[in-house]
Amino acid sequence: MEAAALLVTEALGGSRYALARLISLVEDDGADARAALATLYPHTGQAHVVGVTGAPGTGKSTLVNQLAKSLRAQGTTVGVVAVDPSSPFSGGALLGDRLRMRDLAGDPGVFIRSMASRGSLGGLARATGDVVKVLDGVGFDVVLVETVGAGQAEVDIARTAHTTVVVEAPGLGDEIQALKAGLMEIADVLVVNKADRPGAAKTARALEMVIGRNAPRGEAGQDGWCPPILQAIALDGTGVPEVLDAVAAHREHLRATGLWATRERERVETELLGALRQELLDQLLARVGEDQIQAWVERIAAREVDVYTAMQFILDAD
Ligand code: GDP
Repeated sequence: MEAAALLVTEALGGSRYALARLISLVEDDGADARAALATLYPHTGQAHVVGVTGAPGTGKSTLVNQLAKSLRAQGTTVGVVAVDPSSPFSGGALLGDRLRMRDLAGDPGVFIRSMASRGSLGGLARATGDVVKVLDGVGFDVVLVETVGAGQAEVDIARTAHTTVVVEAPGLGDEIQALKAGLMEIADVLVVNKADRPGAAKTARALEMVIGRNAPRGEAGQDGWCPPILQAIALDGTGVPEVLDAVAAHREHLRATGLWATRERERVETELLGALRQELLDQLLARVGEDQIQAWVERIAAREVDVYTAMQFILDAD
């Protein structure tokens, strides 16, 4: 516990080495991680957490890199969490990171961390949320969370952001990728990247029609916000300032309407219930034991007993 408290103190004091170790600690969970997060928690709640999500190949990494560079040019500090559930590697400098670091290396106002599979997607979501808390707590103004928008778990990770940027690109197939992945409903800002490619305007029009189906174009949706549809060329930075303006406008909207606090409470509730669910299950499984669970699995599979009856037996015997 002592060691964890020291790491937090050093990370708060600006040590990048301590910050990197603190993030590794938090990723791995455990008692020390929880102690560290408890110490850090009063410092959190300041950062604007911005999710950047979209299908593979739309240019998310390139865009995140450009967003980070532009934010730094404004004097804003940036933490980047790049989540790749398909990659078994975590923590180290992946190829993407090395590319990024070429532009951002040596700048103490930027911290980049890659996160990969934690065994389960639920575990990855938990770890991502905790790493965001660390970057927020040590004082980064903006935390960019880059995720592959491919399934429900990734959507859940994106949902923990205050503002979600959904990235689309022309030429990845006829259909709108974000629509297939169910990302449209969580989009606060839509970016058609690769605007240098043919078909960008057509993709933007198609997105407008989809958005228009939810709320007539130009008319705000339920939360009073109409997601802007922007075009960008992440390769050379064209359109990136406009994306940042839209992200900042969304933050102002959340603040002005009180939605910031509402969303914060919703997020905290989801997090608390998730933590309770996991902890209760872990405690129960520690008491019941894997052998007994497997024995019930065999019986359920053999149709001797149904899953709910087995569940009740396990709980009653506990
Ligand atoms: P991600 O998988 O969504 O993170 O996509 P990447 O950022 O890795 O980009 C995928 C590919 O698209 C890379 O080869 C990029 O260089 C390229 N790319 C990214 N942005 C643009 C752009 O604006 N225009 C063009 N033509 N290519 C881009």
